[in-house]
Amino acid sequence: MFNIKYDLNTIDEKRNIIKNKLFENSANIKQVDFTQICNSDLYLLYKLYDEIFFNSWFAENFKGKITFKFSKQLTRAAGNTTTKKHIEKIKPEEVEFQIKISLNHLFNFDKIDRDKYVGGIQAKSKLHSLMLVFEHEICHVIEFLICKKSSCKKEPFKKLIFNLFGQNESTHKLVTSREASFAEYGLVVGNKVTFEFQGKQIIGIINNINKRATVMSQNNKGNYMDRNGQHYIKYYIPLNCLTKI
Ligand SMILES: [Zn+2]
Repeated sequence: MFNIKYDLNTIDEKRNIIKNKLFENSANIKQVDFTQICNSDLYLLYKLYDEIFFNSWFAENFKGKITFKFSKQLTRAAGNTTTKKHIEKIKPEEVEFQIKISLNHLFNFDKIDRDKYVGGIQAKSKLHSLMLVFEHEICHVIEFLICKKSSCKKEPFKKLIFNLFGQNESTHKLVTSREASFAEYGLVVGNKVTFEFQGKQIIGIINNINKRATVMSQNNKGNYMDRNGQHYIKYYIPLNCLTKI
């Protein structure tokens, strides 16, 4: 079944069928720009992809387990797939995969007005982007099952995902939290900022930005030290509480 090759029109038609079935069956996804989603939607997506792209191969042949989860921790990667080491030595019924999909990329989708891509395909909506990321991750599962290892940087994966889903790149150009926070607050790593903390005005430098900013503030009592022996206290501060100076 993994020798399937679909042409691009067929792939689009199949994606459309999945989209409509999602609207019918999901409690959250009623339109392409949904505002709520939960892990059960990923299980539904898996069931639909199995039926519509894989002719129910997973339902009929796969004896292991896949768990699906939305993640708030993924910041660069839009998704990831993990399994135990030495999968070739594990009994088929004990094989397990975990697929995580980044929530940040989904909910940042509309924060920036520019074209977004996943796997070389322009993602037209939040739902389209979710489906493209999902396709990438499920290809990792398939490659693990066939080859006992998987790498999206290598040729076999690239061929697999192109044949099944028409994706011709292994990267995405979705909106990261960093890009969104720059657009919303004008803040980037390295900015000098000030904020109020327990009644005091603190000054520091932004060291990292995810949902909140990590700000390092010089202080002789701090536990963090730089190369010059300077001490710092680390703060995690919501972006809307920072003022650039
Ligand atoms: Zn990958």
